[in-house]
Amino acid sequence: MPIVLVISGPSGTGKSTLVKRLIARERNLEFAVSVTSRPPRRQEVAGRSYRFVSQERFRSMAEEGAFLEWAAVFGNLYGTPKAALEEAAARGCDILLDIDVQGAAQLMEKLPEAATVFVLPPSRRALEERLRTRSSEKEQEIERRLGEAAGEVGRFPAYQYVIVNDDVESTVEALRTILAAERSKRERMAGRIQPILMEFGIDPEEPE
Ligand code: ADP
Ligand code: 5GP
Repeated sequence: MPIVLVISGPSGTGKSTLVKRLIARERNLEFAVSVTSRPPRRQEVAGRSYRFVSQERFRSMAEEGAFLEWAAVFGNLYGTPKAALEEAAARGCDILLDIDVQGAAQLMEKLPEAATVFVLPPSRRALEERLRTRSSEKEQEIERRLGEAAGEVGRFPAYQYVIVNDDVESTVEALRTILAAERSKRERMAGRIQPILMEFGIDPEEPE
């Protein structure tokens, strides 16, 4: 089973920025491209940022059971295709999901072994500034996203890890450290350590 690394956090906290840098730096880690009914932003690349579909198409995909989880967020539909996980697993890669708190709650039920990270902004003010600097939404939409931020932040106790995205580089390093820790979990190391243990005359099945 690949590691499923889930990140959530309020809109504008820097998740997409972190995802891009993490994927660029980590071998064997793939981003699960979500499907959304939201229209693309100017700099977004279809198929790389999201798979953009109509509401109707999204709903029929949901009915067909194409999603591992899906949710309505800020008036649009977003979902993680099951195929993204299956394809990453087939390639021997771990997988990174950027999903909202509702989707993450569904995923925690289905995949309790997933590693979950909540990304906080350094302050509410910084969050507001980031949303405004990104200038990808109109004022009304920015207000809506800020209005929902408190409810989202309140869900942080459900996550295993919490990081504050103050300096981007340090935050990417914190995410890499989390990934490295997940990869070093004893049960994940079984295949790698087996021959070493055997050299010491230790039966990997019954080490005592
Ligand atoms: P999200 O995906 O969480 O909605 P984005 O990655 O789009 O957030 O980031 C929102 C804005 O904040 C972008 O303009 C991005 O360049 C900026 N940003 C991201 N991380 C930081 C950071 N650590 N410090 C300052 N600005 C940041
Ligand atoms: P944005 O419109 O800013 O790209 O994303 C809005 C919110 O949708 C963010 O909180 C983001 O994490 C979330 N999101 C993106 N993809 C998915 C997905 O596949 N499932 C769920 N549940 N949320 C998603």
